Formats: sequence, C-alpha cells, structure tokens
Amino acid sequence: MTTLYEHPDYLALLAAIRATPDDDLPRKVAADWLEEHGEHDRAEFIRVQVEKNVAPWCRFRSGSGCECTSCRLTRRETALLDAHGRAWFTPADGWAVSATSLTRSEAPGVLVRRGFVERVAGPLNTLIGEECGRCGGVGWRPQGEVDVETGHPVEIQCSACHGTGRRRGVLRGLVRREPVRIAEVTDRDPVRRDVMYPGHQAWGWDPDQFPPEIHEAIRAVDSHFGELPGGPGSFLWYESEVGLSAKDLAQFGLSRVLLAWAVAKDPPPLPA
Ligand SMILES: [Zn+2]
Ligand SMILES: [Zn+2]
Repeated sequence: MTTLYEHPDYLALLAAIRATPDDDLPRKVAADWLEEHGEHDRAEFIRVQVEKNVAPWCRFRSGSGCECTSCRLTRRETALLDAHGRAWFTPADGWAVSATSLTRSEAPGVLVRRGFVERVAGPLNTLIGEECGRCGGVGWRPQGEVDVETGHPVEIQCSACHGTGRRRGVLRGLVRREPVRIAEVTDRDPVRRDVMYPGHQAWGWDPDQFPPEIHEAIRAVDSHFGELPGGPGSFLWYESEVGLSAKDLAQFGLSRVLLAWAVAKDPPPLPA
C-alpha cells in the first residue's frame, strides 16, 4: 500500500525542497498539495513553521498570553506537534521530536524546522543498522524443542529482524521521506591528528570507528585532503579562517557521507 507521502507528485515536491533547501516556496507548494489531498494539519504545520521562521521575535519574551505573531505561531506549532509529531516524524520508538533544539542529551531525536525534518541525531547503529542482538545475526532462533524425526533443535524465524539477521537503521527511511540536511552521530567523536604546522588543527576518523564501507566513503569524500599531514579522513583547517572548527568540519564531512550512503540506491550490505 502506498501512502500519500510516497505519491510520485509528493516525491517530486520533496526533491524540489531538497534542491533549494533555503527557499520557502517549494515548502509552501508542498503544503498546498497536502492540503488538496486532505492532510490539513500537516499543511498547516508547514505553513506555521515557515511563517514563524520569518516572523519578528517576540518583544516581550513572554509566552502564554502574548498575542504577537511569533507567540501565536509558536502555540499553534506546539499544539500540532503534540497531536501529530510522533506519527509524522519519529522514525522509531523512543525518538524525540523537537522544533527548537536537538542536543546530544536529547538524542536520539529529530529536529523539525520550516515544516520538515532538518536534522537527525542518534547513535551510529540506530542510524545505519546493526547486527540483530536477539538472534546474533543468524536470523533464526532455537525454539527450545527438538524435532523428533531429525533430532535437530526446532528453529523459528527471529521476529526482531524477520530472519534477516540485521536490524534496519532509521536513516535510509527517514531521508526518503524528509529533506534531512544533517545526520549527527552521537556516539562517535573525531580523533585529533598530529600536524606539524603551528596554528593548524586536524581531526579525522579512524577506520575502527565505523564499518569498512562507511570509512571507505569518508576517505572518498575527503580524498582531496589526503595529501595533507592529517592523512586520509582528516580535515585540516585554520580554526580562525572559517566559522566551523576543524572538529565541526569532521562532523560535517561524516554527515555528508552518511546522507549519501542513505540515499544510494543499492548500497552493499553492511558487514555483520
Ligand atoms: Zn510574543
Ligand atoms: Zn534477529
């Protein structure tokens, strides 16, 4: 069964949002389309968040009673998110949905801005998937009985992974439904590299921090940094030259790699 959110027209609208993520117009067009197809609350939510984003800040910084545009929209945003946020945005049980912030302590969670999921943060395995813990990656579990004819233990398909031996991560499904811009891994930190130039900092990722295919992708994205003293997988920058620190650049590079991995049509299966 396909839902409205898998309709080719909607996927085309999503593609337009992804192509120009800072532009409000494609978001408003998507809201109109959803409205026409009966999704009134989601349409309103998109409009409310888009409008709130450009509304003047509340002069009184008050909350409940204030009738300024920003406070009015914030109250409506909260009400719609309380009613539907879980159904619309959470990729799995236990995930937080926020319209304001998403820190590591709030993860795993999604940050919803201007009507759509903008950022996702969680442990690596919940994002990209992992070996099934219930069956140890085998896909089958002994039922505790022995087959009287063969003498072998009776095995049943593992219900946690449906016999695949792996649990799916949330990232691939999420990036198909939402124009995610940042994927943050909350349980990996870049490793500082030694560099010989004073004033430089280099941070990178070590091979043992990721499954091989992810680390290969990090090296591929980052190949033009390969000749620098930080080595492949490193990001080397003057801290003062750019707004982002070298450590943030390493995180940003990882985010790019994971999002590219998640949208790839036929990624090779992750090793167990
Ligand atoms: Zn106000
Ligand atoms: Zn299993």
